[in-house]
Amino acid sequence: MELELEPLQLPSDKERPIVIAGPCSAETEEQVISTAHSLAAKGCYIFRAGIWKPRTKPGGFEGNGEMALPWMKRVKEETGMMISTEVATPEHVEMALKYGMDILWIGARTTANPFAMQALADALHGIDIPVLVKNPVNPDLELWIGGLQRLNQAGLMRLGVIHRGFSSYDKKFYRNAPMWQIPIELRRRIPGLPIICDPSHIGGRRDLIAPLCQQAMDLGFDGLIVESHCSPEKAWSDAEQQVTPDILDYILSLLVVRDHTSATEGLKFLRTQIDELDNSLMGLLAKRFRICREIGTFKKEHNMTILQAGRYSEILEKRGAQASLCGMDANFAAQVFELIHEESVRQQLEIINK
Ligand code: PEP
Ligand code: MN
Repeated sequence: MELELEPLQLPSDKERPIVIAGPCSAETEEQVISTAHSLAAKGCYIFRAGIWKPRTKPGGFEGNGEMALPWMKRVKEETGMMISTEVATPEHVEMALKYGMDILWIGARTTANPFAMQALADALHGIDIPVLVKNPVNPDLELWIGGLQRLNQAGLMRLGVIHRGFSSYDKKFYRNAPMWQIPIELRRRIPGLPIICDPSHIGGRRDLIAPLCQQAMDLGFDGLIVESHCSPEKAWSDAEQQVTPDILDYILSLLVVRDHTSATEGLKFLRTQIDELDNSLMGLLAKRFRICREIGTFKKEHNMTILQAGRYSEILEKRGAQASLCGMDANFAAQVFELIHEESVRQQLEIINK
């Protein structure tokens, strides 16, 4: 099913992407109002704050719930900013709408659950409001698209996504592995769908916000959602990844937003060269497989096995070492040659079984 989309119609400055900023959680009225005023003074148009917080384990701060909604309403009235929050149940939707929420987002844990997504779609049926769907916690593009389809079937057309990275057991550098190839594939599959990057939940650390924002811009993403708090180190949730409104403004001022729509002559020239090289690669591969088939005929005539493990390991090793010398990742080269080898075996089997 194809998505029927309409533009999100969210405000942003010409030279800046869409920016949604605000604390992880609405903690106190004072914290919400003071953060919002500082962000508004820096030219931020869209405020975020979590009202209901999904926590991995019980005992953490789970949000103030309905009590915090009038604070959000105050933000809207006093600063003119749009207000946004996460909804996970039909009751959240009802309450958020009651207090004039302008934009809703769906959290990663909710996107991963089709029953919850359907319940939200039903609750939002016929309501015209922008909804941003975070990627599911697990790297499953179909589940992400499925969630969007459920909302679209309920008549929501102002849809966008938030890329917040994917959970993994083995936490290395990032809090949530970005796996950029997944949002990139989503862009290829649904080109008109706005993608917003959440560097706060990908990085999990203040110092990663700037490079992740830049990476999102380099990939042509449409916007950013960044956690910003008036006193980040005192935050009740996600303290390590929040930045002050001042720091956020500084990060945004350094962003290089590249024009990816008008391909310059220089880029066209470089792309022609890439096309030529790809043609050569295909030609070389075809030649290589022709020789493989000849080897297949030889093995058949001499009653030899197709798979000769020693030779295979030798190829993988040699190409890995070669790749490192040329500045390529040895693992990447090994994967490419594993695939080539698989196709060679398939073609040789065709010859032998003829
Ligand atoms: C959040 O945005 O505060 C949040 C809980 O994010 P996620 O759903 O990406 O974990
Ligand atoms: Mn958070």
